[in-house]
Amino acid sequence: MIQRATYDFCIVGGGIVGLATAMALLERNPGARLVLLEKENALALHQTGHNSGVIHSGIYYAPGSLKADLCKRGERATKEFCSAHGIPFVTCGKTLVATNALELERLEALVGRARENGIEAERLDEAELRRREPNITGLGALFVPATAIVDYRAVCAAMARVIRAAGAEIVLGAEVSAIRESPRDVVIAANGRRWTSARLVACAGLQSDRLARLAGLPVTHQIVPFRGEYYRLPSEKNDIIRSLIYPVPDPDLPFLGIHLTRMIDGSVTVGPNAVLGLAREGYAKLAIDLRDVAQYLFFPGLWRVLARYRRSVRAELKGSLLKSAYLRECRKYCPSLTVGDLLPYTAGIRAQAVTRDGTLVHDFLFLESERMLHVGNAPSPAATSAIPIGEMIQARLAGG
Ligand SMILES: Cc1cc2nc3c(=O)[nH]c(=O)nc-3n(C[C@H](O)[C@H](O)[C@H](O)COP(=O)(O)OP(=O)(O)OC[C@H]3O[C@@H](n4cnc5c(N)ncnc54)[C@H](O)[C@@H]3O)c2cc1C
Repeated sequence: MIQRATYDFCIVGGGIVGLATAMALLERNPGARLVLLEKENALALHQTGHNSGVIHSGIYYAPGSLKADLCKRGERATKEFCSAHGIPFVTCGKTLVATNALELERLEALVGRARENGIEAERLDEAELRRREPNITGLGALFVPATAIVDYRAVCAAMARVIRAAGAEIVLGAEVSAIRESPRDVVIAANGRRWTSARLVACAGLQSDRLARLAGLPVTHQIVPFRGEYYRLPSEKNDIIRSLIYPVPDPDLPFLGIHLTRMIDGSVTVGPNAVLGLAREGYAKLAIDLRDVAQYLFFPGLWRVLARYRRSVRAELKGSLLKSAYLRECRKYCPSLTVGDLLPYTAGIRAQAVTRDGTLVHDFLFLESERMLHVGNAPSPAATSAIPIGEMIQARLAGG
């Protein structure tokens, strides 16, 4: 039987962006009738539940930019939310390590950027780096004390409790397969059920371009999945680092660079790299989805990206295929690691929006109509920034 319901807001996607948006809408519109639809049988099973678990400080981003502002506010908001809801987080700080002259130069630029962004950061020389992190070598480093670690699935579970306590519904196992907008409302169909809502917000991550197309919006970009492969260190190496250890990023490809991450359960992971994925939602090494592959093979933007970044593409692929090449990257700053230290660990998959001209979209992308707002790209670190992103979407819907 087809069920009908009338809602003020329907959110599609139970990752951290959808949940934070639902919280913001309920806070600003007490008593609003809101339903959140998630296709999986649990929340946060995709990007949000397969990430590094870092609460970033926002040091990399251009001062005054939206990304810098959202990340800085998000860092504080996430910690406050965790404190208020009893979710453990550890502010262990992050050490950016320069291993050659070019990275030292980039590190100096980051010192200035931290100052302009109002983020505390301490420049360490080689000896001080060695004193603080005895297993790490480099020519110099930058220590960012505010960076923290958390379990984002636990954050999402707490957000879901807040949403339900405000009287809203979360429906799991509801894969949205049709969206029809009329001047009066939006009708959403999933698994034989239908919902009518005054407004729809889609936060569908890896499926966001498909959802927007399904809703009849003109979509010129495409989501390309980039696999981020991790390893875990053996538990006897859990004390190998005190803070999170990051390489100095290449400003053109800031999301590249294998790091050593202390996880909230005390383990240490290495990664992620970034290689073209063969499935948007397949986490096993050889997982392949022919529809996903066919879709990007016929997309000219992907070929332009591969050509433009061919050196990085080759290096990342080599690291994915050869453990020894992956290890070489880690040993640049952690020379005591051996191949035997790299134990299997689950991968993550990044939803990277790419335009037809081959540009990797590093900014927010919204697709809007009278009654809908689709988040086309929520750039990393959107887990850190999710609470202010939700507030921003709420303000956008309210006409702000
Ligand atoms: C490897 C990796 C490491 C990262 N590390 C960090 C980090 O340390 N710190 C940080 O801040 N950020 C990090 N990020 C970025 C961050 O995880 C993401 O930006 C963020 O989780 C995006 O959240 P989201 O809600 O937009 O997407 P998702 O978490 O992917 O959620 C989208 C949801 O929509 C649902 N959905 C899709 N289609 C439908 C449909 N048709 N019907 C119903 N539901 C649907 C999906 O099932 C999914 O649950 C990392 C990302 C990756 C990939």
